[in-house]
Amino acid sequence: DDTQQRPPMGPLLSISSLSKQYPRTQARAVNDVSFNLYSGEILALLGPSGCGKTTTLRMLAGFETPDTGSIHLKDRDITSLPPQKRHIGMVFQDYALFPHMTLAENVTFAMQQIARDQRYTKALEWLELVGLGDLADRFPEELSGGQQQRVALVRTLAAEPELVLLDEPFSNLDAGLRERTRKEMRRLFKKTGTSVVLVTHDQAEAMTMADRIGVMKDGDLLQLGPPQQVYREPANAFVAEFLGHTNLLEAQASGESAATPLGQVDLNAPAEGRVTLSLRPEHLALVPSDDSDSATVVDREFRGHDYFYVLQRGEQRYCAIVPNHEPLEVGDRVRLKAHRQASVLPAEQQRKH
Ligand code: ATP
Repeated sequence: DDTQQRPPMGPLLSISSLSKQYPRTQARAVNDVSFNLYSGEILALLGPSGCGKTTTLRMLAGFETPDTGSIHLKDRDITSLPPQKRHIGMVFQDYALFPHMTLAENVTFAMQQIARDQRYTKALEWLELVGLGDLADRFPEELSGGQQQRVALVRTLAAEPELVLLDEPFSNLDAGLRERTRKEMRRLFKKTGTSVVLVTHDQAEAMTMADRIGVMKDGDLLQLGPPQQVYREPANAFVAEFLGHTNLLEAQASGESAATPLGQVDLNAPAEGRVTLSLRPEHLALVPSDDSDSATVVDREFRGHDYFYVLQRGEQRYCAIVPNHEPLEVGDRVRLKAHRQASVLPAEQQRKH
């Protein structure tokens, strides 16, 4: 059959200046958020609790009406369409399957667009795609949490939505299962060319699942880019710290390097004058030394293939990740030395509102 997609002319989804304020609240839950999503792309909205990611997703799904702004899916303005007319599938945190229906029936239920006599075969294909073909005649309560999660997902995909929305989809799974499920889901989305907007507060989940990550805080979309880019070139200190441990250094830049409390450090981009740098803990070397300006190891955490160290130097704390040969002890004195470039954080921009 002809499921071949034409190359996209423009973005699949286009969100423009979306804002939302709930009654009886001081601030906007979502503040002038704009982004595009391209066909087949997985985009993660990442941020702490209350940053506005769920509200954004609910406006995409049609469960909330934006105060201002617009949402286009393909060429349609869907800003004020009811949810069922949007061709968008959503998987919620509590992916309730119908308990009295088998897995196959749960999936066929979503396939109203397909001729009735073809639904069961098609449902089996979907279940096989997530390794559950053999369990098609079981009931949801006879499955593990991870298996149920996969059924909920293929049930959504079986309706052939143009876009799939996921709200913290793996939060009910334990750590090991969560990691495996993420990998499987990403593989499934790529195999089926599914376009996805995923909401999470977990940076590891955003990094492993998404093609691009949008970092949100207090309703603002602070930065949008591929995982490597938001990690290596964070737009500000919040993004740098939300995507993992980092050392923020006040520095005096001159071209490709800067004077910092840790000595001269190479920069990822030329800069001049007073700047803030982000130096990841894995880019900091610890050299045993008893100089007067050495740092002291105040904490050490064994993490398998490396150690995570916390160091104190004067008033300042630093963190470093070092491969685990010859571990340092708490109380050891070391010199801190950047062995990779630090990222220059752009000067804080004026707030828009
Ligand atoms: P979480 O990860 O905790 O779900 P979130 O990033 O998804 O958080 P939202 O649920 O979008 O954030 O909430 C954004 C802001 O809007 C928060 O300050 C929240 O308290 C507020 N908010 C959310 N829903 C409502 C509501 N129905 N009425 C009033 N305020 C709300």
